[in-house]
Amino acid sequence: MHLEKNPPYLVTIGLEVHAQLKTKTKMFCSCPVEYGAEPNTHLCPVCLGHPGALPVINHEALYLTTLAGLMLSCEIPPICKFDRKNYFYPDMPKNYQISQFDKPLCLGGSVPLHERAYPKEIQKTETAQEKQIRLTRIHLEEDVAKSFHFESTSGIDFNRAGTPLIEIVSEPDITSPEEAFAYLNALRQILIYGNISDADMEKGQMRCDVNVSVRPVDQKEFGTKIELKNLNSISGVRRALTFEIQRQMDLLSRGEKLSQETRRWDDDRGETTLMRIKESAHDYRYFPDPDLLPIHTEELMAIAKKRMPELPQAKCTRLINDYELSPYDAAVLTEDHALVTYFEEAIRLSSQKVRPKILANWIINDLLSALGAASISIIESPVTPEALVELTSLIELGTISGRQGKEVFSEMMISQKSPSSIVQEKGLQQVSDSGAIEGFCDSVIEANPAVVADFKAGKEAALNFLKGQVMKLSKGKANPGLAGEILLKKILGE
Ligand SMILES: [Zn+2]
Repeated sequence: MHLEKNPPYLVTIGLEVHAQLKTKTKMFCSCPVEYGAEPNTHLCPVCLGHPGALPVINHEALYLTTLAGLMLSCEIPPICKFDRKNYFYPDMPKNYQISQFDKPLCLGGSVPLHERAYPKEIQKTETAQEKQIRLTRIHLEEDVAKSFHFESTSGIDFNRAGTPLIEIVSEPDITSPEEAFAYLNALRQILIYGNISDADMEKGQMRCDVNVSVRPVDQKEFGTKIELKNLNSISGVRRALTFEIQRQMDLLSRGEKLSQETRRWDDDRGETTLMRIKESAHDYRYFPDPDLLPIHTEELMAIAKKRMPELPQAKCTRLINDYELSPYDAAVLTEDHALVTYFEEAIRLSSQKVRPKILANWIINDLLSALGAASISIIESPVTPEALVELTSLIELGTISGRQGKEVFSEMMISQKSPSSIVQEKGLQQVSDSGAIEGFCDSVIEANPAVVADFKAGKEAALNFLKGQVMKLSKGKANPGLAGEILLKKILGE
């Protein structure tokens, strides 16, 4: 991004994302991983760091990390190992964290940015570029405990200590707050598609450290790197970066110097404030964990490959090709894994009775707006894929009209009753019995001789009037197509 200040500046952003893996148990012990559990109830000598307790590797965490690597086009080196990262902090009882230093599980790779990953208001603009953000590495480690600060005391919940965590480190390829937003969205989408992590930032399952620097466009070396902390949402990352970049440019254009520091984002006040100046890089004195042997990755790769799901962009292309969806509809559906799963389930249940395009329209136009209005997620939708298929089949078969379908749908959202029982209760069936419709047509023709004569004289709109009268007489229940056909036959056949 070129920022038109005088002189113009270049922005460099690198992100370190931590994502909690979706395993049943912790990284090196069999304590359960459970979000929101009563504090300090999922503990054992291993995750509390008691002397002499030995770690045992969680194989599922290894597979999930390898799968993340494969989905993000990383290289998986033949051997990886675990190291001890030594530092003291109250939330880490062992005084070291088991992590990976020089031999991580995944190297390189990239996150592809696509248009719909960008903030809504800049999609369809030049800023929403499809580009690849390169990754440096992904390594596997254990999470630390969680500290809580009360009025006069602090508490530590060790339930989180030892939860499997991957750290995904990007190259400094990101050049604007909007790209950082798109990167986090695209990365999160892939982690969710692979069932690797729930990646909910509000629950702390995905956390993000941001490094940002600004430099005049003619300066070769990077500017002073400043780290941002306390970012709790993807839009918060964007807001924090927008503020911080402006702050750095203002200082530089006034001829002031930036110092290497860590700053805290205050989302309520919309500004970053100084946390600490970085004097020097930490020396964590990494060394190989003597309790854990190096791991050969060949077997991991074989198992992870079998678990490779369809990637979001590949699924989007397939929906367009297989179901004749518009690129827009396909993109809306694939954006949310739960939504596209709902759609594919509906397709399967409809067994070709309802066209996929019709199902997609109902999901995107009716279901999404009804869920949005009620603040319900697709997973908790009161209208199941099965019920939606039943409703659309009733419309396709002509049992109810499209307009009546909307009425039934609104009722389904509230009462969760099946479409057929709602149709029955409300007496909504369309009259498709030609005998009954013929009776309505005869009465209408008899009552409107002048209009019938107009039609015979070539005034085609007259038929619509007659059709309207039939609908009125049937209280809106006559099948309009059938009513038109019968009227035509009767008038011209006379
Ligand atoms: Zn434990």
